[in-house]
Amino acid sequence: MARKSLSSLSWKNRFIDGTPGDKEAGGGPRQVPGACWSRVRPEPMPNPVLRMWSCEVAGMLGLDVADEKILGGNKIVMGMDPYAQRYGGHQFGNWAGQLGDGRAITLGEVDTGKTSLEIQLKGSGRTPYSRFADGRAVLRSSIREFLCSEAMHHLGVPSTRALSLVTTGEEVIRDVMYDGRPAAEPGAIVCRVADSFIRFGSFQIHANTGDFTTLRALVEYTIESHFPGHSADCDDALIEWLKEVADRTAFTIAHWMRVGFVHGVMNTDNMSIHGFTIDYGPYGWLEGYDPTWTPNTTDAMTKRYRYGQQAEVGAWNIARLLEAIGHLMREPTRLHEALESYYDAYREHSTGMWSKKLGLGHFEAGDDTLISDLISMLQLTETDMTVFFRLLSNIEKPEAEHLTPAIYNQEEGAPLEWGAWLTRWWNRVNGEPARAMMLRANPKYVLRNWMAQIAIESAEKGDYSVAMELHEMLKSPYDEHPEHEEKWFLKRPEWARNRVGSSMLSCSS
Ligand code: AMP
Ligand code: MG
Repeated sequence: MARKSLSSLSWKNRFIDGTPGDKEAGGGPRQVPGACWSRVRPEPMPNPVLRMWSCEVAGMLGLDVADEKILGGNKIVMGMDPYAQRYGGHQFGNWAGQLGDGRAITLGEVDTGKTSLEIQLKGSGRTPYSRFADGRAVLRSSIREFLCSEAMHHLGVPSTRALSLVTTGEEVIRDVMYDGRPAAEPGAIVCRVADSFIRFGSFQIHANTGDFTTLRALVEYTIESHFPGHSADCDDALIEWLKEVADRTAFTIAHWMRVGFVHGVMNTDNMSIHGFTIDYGPYGWLEGYDPTWTPNTTDAMTKRYRYGQQAEVGAWNIARLLEAIGHLMREPTRLHEALESYYDAYREHSTGMWSKKLGLGHFEAGDDTLISDLISMLQLTETDMTVFFRLLSNIEKPEAEHLTPAIYNQEEGAPLEWGAWLTRWWNRVNGEPARAMMLRANPKYVLRNWMAQIAIESAEKGDYSVAMELHEMLKSPYDEHPEHEEKWFLKRPEWARNRVGSSMLSCSS
């Protein structure tokens, strides 16, 4: 049988066929009122070379071979009708107007027989939504997106996926720390895959410009194409749909909290209507457990998107989506039902997550204080989140020295301070924590920034072996992998504490 390539897949273009679009194709940065998309073409790149490939995503699509020309944006095949999506968004709490796919280009949707998946190139050139920027992506941020979206999926966190990473052969100029020292970096393109890349901001742009006809068309399209069992017929139906979106968002954020993920830029244009983790930029993973931590240097002052505030920001973002959809309702005052539903869903998912992380089996009175005291202890003793929970999952006696490898500052006798909490927890679970549950809730391996940074520095020298090793290992993050333990089951090494790319990341990508 012939091996299946991108050109032999079954392509369709439901979004273009089902929503209003730009009359003009391509062109420079401009406002595009009344449209959900603009037709564009990926810009040809000098030398696309395939560097990373996800067999799982290829399998979902029914693909056997990679075509560098297509994945690098140098070729379009029959059935593709590439476009950039128009959306807006609240950035850091302020309405930013029209944003849109400034460097992402959707090639089309693939009908897999079971479902439809949108295939998008990120970093393949300018679109009408590029504003002042170049439409490119650098290798560093592309490796981070490729590895993290796949790692998140395998951790059980809803996420957009990555099929491939291609280097373009082109140099891209970036001022990484915004300090007036721009430098050339290798360019790259990640091919992303998801049910769709529709965002909260995709709806907001029409609501906030008073274009309720286009808003309605997009809502109807989205519900019909992606939310079976829902409809846009009346207020009740819209509220039910919004509750579903709220629940999915709460679920994903509860999972971020479980694994210690900090998105870093939870602007409403980076909130997927499906509740996927989307747009991997200056994200990070908690090392020392610090709820005030954000990896994003652009957010260093107010820390709006810090780890401990993600659920609250999720609610704020849901509220912006509700305001937008409210324009289609007779009684928009009822929208609070969907916001309450978000809080209820988050509470439920969060409680479930904590019971699993601590092997409690079920939630009891008093567990709240056990958890809040744990959170205080984790901070007081500067303890590594991932290592701590994994060691706790395997502990045989409630003895503090078992936790020593998780503690950063060991000089002050910190490990011993854990004794009292451990005894309480041990008594709560009658000496029999639900271990299997804990081992599925507490990953052994996550993509810490310094790990990604080592992979990036090697890849920039042409060696992708570390990136591939991490990709492979992070496909089973709950397995022990004794062969990887010494290298990757570690708290943050000292060199990474204050290093660019490891503890601090900018939006420059
Ligand atoms: P982000 O915060 O990275 O999700 O991006 C915010 C907006 O800036 C989106 O509209 C992006 O498409 C756009 N953007 C980011 N980087 C670039 C770039 N290099 N070229 C064009 N547009 C970009
Ligand atoms: Mg974005």
